[in-house]
Amino acid sequence: MNQPPPHDPQEPRPPGRNTTLRLAAVPAAEAPPLDRTTRFLAVVAVLALVAVLVWVISRPQVRHNEPLTWNAIAPPPATAIHPWRFIVLHHSASRGGDAQVIDRDHQSQNGWDGIGYHFVVGNGVDMPLGRIEATFRWRQQSHGAHAGALPLQKPYNTDGIGVCLIGNYEQQAIDPYAERRLVELCAHLIDRIPTLSVGRIIGHRDVPGKSTACPGRGIDLERLRFLVRKELLARGLTVR
Ligand SMILES: [Zn+2]
Repeated sequence: MNQPPPHDPQEPRPPGRNTTLRLAAVPAAEAPPLDRTTRFLAVVAVLALVAVLVWVISRPQVRHNEPLTWNAIAPPPATAIHPWRFIVLHHSASRGGDAQVIDRDHQSQNGWDGIGYHFVVGNGVDMPLGRIEATFRWRQQSHGAHAGALPLQKPYNTDGIGVCLIGNYEQQAIDPYAERRLVELCAHLIDRIPTLSVGRIIGHRDVPGKSTACPGRGIDLERLRFLVRKELLARGLTVR
């Protein structure tokens, strides 16, 4: 097969098949400017990346192997613990949220002096899954605002520890990890407060005069009481 003669760079380039492609690096300063749409998309992509990084870094993490300790929730040493008689469970009936959101809502919508619950348990959306946050009511050992306004409901506010599980447990079952933290919370409370007992873990729907599904079908109270008994026994504590 005959090879075509090599092309002399001094001669004009012959047309047709012998065209060669030369690649040359162009300095950035000489590169053609990006069009506006491309620049806009690049800026959006960088901002989105920064936002994701900030979210990942700032998101509080729950250490799943860390059990809840009494010290993590103990009221200040000078605060005498109220003789609580009930642990009243609620759900937020929302996809997400946290103690701050509920605090704002209870002040603005209900005109209360702040969040009505003593504890809030996160579901991993706006608050880490299974994180238990004690509110000002628990720290001050002051009455709750969660059981209703009727006179027969009053003891459940004055002597009931309100625990709100973030999430909608009419629509889904409680996550096993959040349930585990809730069991630990109940066990600590029953261990430290002689007026409490496993049988006094109730749902909001069990408060007399209430017609509510709260805390929802997805929280099995019988199972919860069973697990709390088991937890107390496992720690060698008195089961009341
Ligand atoms: Zn409720």
